[in-house]
Amino acid sequence: SALLIGLTGGIGSGKSTVAGMLAERGAAVIDADAISRATTAPGGAALPAIAQVFGPTLIGADGALDRAAMRQLVFRDASARQRLEAIIHPLVGQETDRQAQQALAAGHPILVFDVPLLVESGARWRGKVDRVWVVDCDPATQIERVMARNQLPREQVEQILAAQSPRAQRLAAADTVLFNGADTTLDTLRQQVQRAAATFGL
Ligand code: ATP
Repeated sequence: SALLIGLTGGIGSGKSTVAGMLAERGAAVIDADAISRATTAPGGAALPAIAQVFGPTLIGADGALDRAAMRQLVFRDASARQRLEAIIHPLVGQETDRQAQQALAAGHPILVFDVPLLVESGARWRGKVDRVWVVDCDPATQIERVMARNQLPREQVEQILAAQSPRAQRLAAADTVLFNGADTTLDTLRQQVQRAAATFGL
């Protein structure tokens, strides 16, 4: 039967890069952030409930969630955040399960769930996967990578890092650690991925 891997790591650590390397080895990659975003994109499954709970003003003219307005609302209001998550999380869970079933039916030997906030989410994701793989990177390198990739100022990237769980907490949750620091080349990263996959006969 297939191996279900929960792949996580801080912003810019290299999750997508590792997921791509696992895809080269026949893995199906399930992108939790993409699924979550789709629930609030135009026509998204979360929009009717969001309009009902928070009022139609949070839905923009394009029919999508007004992300800036929503962010403002949940930033100061923990209960609003909880109500939003109570709408979105079950829908993400359903769509994740649907994609996983589809990948299993297609015969993929590995399913990789790319979940940036797996550690932060507690049992919600941990219960779905057999193993947690953490892509580990020093914060200085994460900051450099994200500044370069997203053309963002340093302060903004530092703020995002500060809102995520600390490196040590992610490492404590890991079954397997893939180190992807400043001196890690894509070749040496791929070697680590191969070694970790080989542990499971993949
Ligand atoms: P996010 O959480 O923001 O989605 P991520 O963890 O998926 O990020 P990636 O997108 O895989 O991270 O990597 C971040 C950036 O760093 C990308 O531009 C990627 O090409 C680059 N990168 C990752 N690992 C390496 C490496 N070993 N050598 C060179 N560049 C790398």
